[in-house]
Amino acid sequence: MPVISPKKPYRVGRSRTGLGLFATQRIKKGTKIIRYFGPLLDCKKKKDDAIENKYLFELNNRWTIDGSVRKNVARYINHACKPNAESDVRPRKRKVFIRAIKNIEPGDEINYDYGTDYFKAYLKPIGCKCDACEKKRKKKRAEARAERLRLKAKEEKKAERKAKKKAEKEAAKRAKAKSDTKSRVRAKAKSNAKTELRPDRKRKLDSKVSTVRVNGGTSARRSRPKSITPMVAAEQPIAAAPEAPAIFQALSPPMPAAAVDEAQQASA
Ligand SMILES: [Zn+2]
Repeated sequence: MPVISPKKPYRVGRSRTGLGLFATQRIKKGTKIIRYFGPLLDCKKKKDDAIENKYLFELNNRWTIDGSVRKNVARYINHACKPNAESDVRPRKRKVFIRAIKNIEPGDEINYDYGTDYFKAYLKPIGCKCDACEKKRKKKRAEARAERLRLKAKEEKKAERKAKKKAEKEAAKRAKAKSDTKSRVRAKAKSNAKTELRPDRKRKLDSKVSTVRVNGGTSARRSRPKSITPMVAAEQPIAAAPEAPAIFQALSPPMPAAAVDEAQQASA
């Protein structure tokens, strides 16, 4: 670290990018803070033109200050996109001063804008680390984070809505199934009640059945072949084969002719 007189309003200290120059006293806006100095390089001289470092300060087309010397404390001043100081270039005098463009408080880092050429060549590729750019990056990160959170919340809400809709649909389905069963049961009960509540109809149905049975019996008796009956009557006395009671004759189905024959032969 360079030795700096305690009378000076600045000191070299740790900064975000390494070392930097910091105010130790209040520096009023417009005050010359420090001179940026070093050997003058003449670009017309091949030897001078060959020198290349990060501390070259171009005064004009011909003269450049080589600020890389240790004694040049101003070389510790870092670049800032929104600085509190500026470079005051005096080409005729071949001198450069750093001047406050804002009131600078003790502890503040002193910065000036290095210019577009330097920025493009050295800072843009690695990303400017000045307060303004850091702030911008921080804001961008916060915005991106907020956007991610917003999207996440949106997705969650969507999923919630979907689940709710599904639940409602299922509930409706269940309710419908329940009401269907109920109405089926009700319909069944109604139809049962109809039959039970109208006994006259039931009775009518019963009597119809009995009528059919009786009629069948009579018709069966009528359809029995006539030729057999006289033969049986002739060969067998009526007493040997007692007639079934009239009620059985009426209810039993007619016997096939062959069966009747066999029965008669067996009994003969
Ligand atoms: Zn910046």
